[in-house]
Amino acid sequence: MSKMESERLFVKTLTKTLKRTLCEEINENDKGLEFNLKGWVMHYRDHGSLIFIDLRDYSGTIQIVFDETISPQSFKTAKKIRNEFVVSVLGVVRIRPSGTENPHLKTGKIEIEARSVELLNDCETLPFQIEEEKEAGVNELMRLKYRYLDLRRKKLKENIIFRSNFTFSIRNFLQKKGFFDIETPFLTKSTPEGSRDFLVPSRLNIGSFYALPQSPQLFKQILMVSGFERYYQIVRCFRDEDLRADRQPEFTQLDMEMSFVNKDDILSLTEELLSGVFGELLNIKLNLPFPRLNYDDAMDTYGSDKPDTRFEMTLKKLSHIFVNSSFNLFKDTITGGGEVKGICLKTGSNLLSRKDIDELVSFAKEFGAKGLAWTKVGENKTFDGGISKFISIGERSNLINELNAENGDMIFYQADLKRIANAVLGKLRVHLAKKFNLIPKSKFNFLWVVNFPLFEYSEEEKKIVSVHHPFTSPKLSDIDILISDPLKARSESYDFVLNGEEIGGGSIRIHKKELQEQIFKILKITPENARLKFGFLLDALSFGAPPHGGIAFGIDRILMLLRNENSIRDVIAFPKTQKAYCPLTDTPSKIESMQLREVGISLLKK
Ligand code: ASP
Repeated sequence: MSKMESERLFVKTLTKTLKRTLCEEINENDKGLEFNLKGWVMHYRDHGSLIFIDLRDYSGTIQIVFDETISPQSFKTAKKIRNEFVVSVLGVVRIRPSGTENPHLKTGKIEIEARSVELLNDCETLPFQIEEEKEAGVNELMRLKYRYLDLRRKKLKENIIFRSNFTFSIRNFLQKKGFFDIETPFLTKSTPEGSRDFLVPSRLNIGSFYALPQSPQLFKQILMVSGFERYYQIVRCFRDEDLRADRQPEFTQLDMEMSFVNKDDILSLTEELLSGVFGELLNIKLNLPFPRLNYDDAMDTYGSDKPDTRFEMTLKKLSHIFVNSSFNLFKDTITGGGEVKGICLKTGSNLLSRKDIDELVSFAKEFGAKGLAWTKVGENKTFDGGISKFISIGERSNLINELNAENGDMIFYQADLKRIANAVLGKLRVHLAKKFNLIPKSKFNFLWVVNFPLFEYSEEEKKIVSVHHPFTSPKLSDIDILISDPLKARSESYDFVLNGEEIGGGSIRIHKKELQEQIFKILKITPENARLKFGFLLDALSFGAPPHGGIAFGIDRILMLLRNENSIRDVIAFPKTQKAYCPLTDTPSKIESMQLREVGISLLKK
């Protein structure tokens, strides 16, 4: 079913039940027919003996005319109408007089000649105007406080309807593939997905707490032990994060798990799912399979494990050019085990002012760089500015070849530990591409990143931590080095990336209790602690757990990208602010001391 068809179907069903017609169901062919329309008054224009209103319902808008000479009674009532009043109009379709058509409106060729009107409700003075063009000036706190008005706006309304069609299409696909939609608890135990938990005190068990799930991870694995084999859920997850960038404390995942599958089964099933949904809702044909990139290659080439491949400017290894360099900074880095790498910004010499370059240096430092070396490329392989004077003629020509550089380009260098050089240039690459609009807007570049390390060393926690979560299976070939060289072990996990955003990820899981215990040990979780936190999982694994694996997709983020929005708040009906605050309901808010006492809590004095 195409998007149009599914919308159409919805319109018809609704109309039948509501015994009224929606604005955009009517067209020129209905000339002379009478309809009952109900909705909100978007615009109101009084032209003496004629009053025009644009009526809005969820389908769209239509123009209604009140003519004093045709229906004096409804004209009189219409005099009282103001913006956003709710009205019910009975009227006849007529073709608009030539020259007064509105080509921007689906119903722009027609209008409704009102015969009677009923005012169903009035409306206070609006805190902001609803029309699209006015949005830019409205502060987001205001929009969220009056979210019900904000959601009347065309763009938001279409986003939310798209979201509904999107999840419907997913459910449809998965149902046909034999998946079961199974709910898992919200009041539960902590699931380690790398964030802080939201806690809920228990009144019936004073001093004990539930945690809201960071994901249904452990329950979906347990469902596999129960034999459901194919599970999915479109489910809310809760993570108490510092809301940097564009995150929400509660967000929605498409969560899936399957038994008796390998990694490739999961990747190809989800590819089929996404290409189906894309075809149906956006009429876009995706080329399958999506590229699979090794983690190491992604880091080396793009400096990121969620590479944006819509534009070039890839990271190049330059160490071989500088091994014998007279530029000590580069040479010593290489001798000390580090690397020199670079990126080339096409026509960069003209794009960047001195001030811009200074800003880029500060930008690089934010991500751990000691500095940011650069050179401009001139005519006949000449270099200019930055560290040019340290670079020999031979090195220049090698650099030009390696980076495909031309007159007018600009090269940026990092000499550091490989990890830092990659991370800094990776961030810089995306920053420059955004700054100079080098990213094609209409492209959807999907890819998988595979062969992740199983563990990484956390400087913050001063210990080894899981790159994904502790239930991820190591590659069978790496089981032997788990103890001797854990940081070298690779995992059976995969991340799904769209246009430089990680929008999904999952893994083949550990299904043997002994291996799971071994992983906890490497993570320095004592057997007592493992029992306390994950005893139920370890028990389940010991009762015939099948091999299994799964994945979860961030629905909000995918929708944001598909709808070309800059914030996930624009695809969520009731989002919270960056400070996890809901202006509509004024939440979080203080509660009565009585309620605290009931759950055995007293607040610390500040
Ligand atoms: N539970 C994981 C997450 O929320 C996804 C998965 O491994 O299926 O990121």
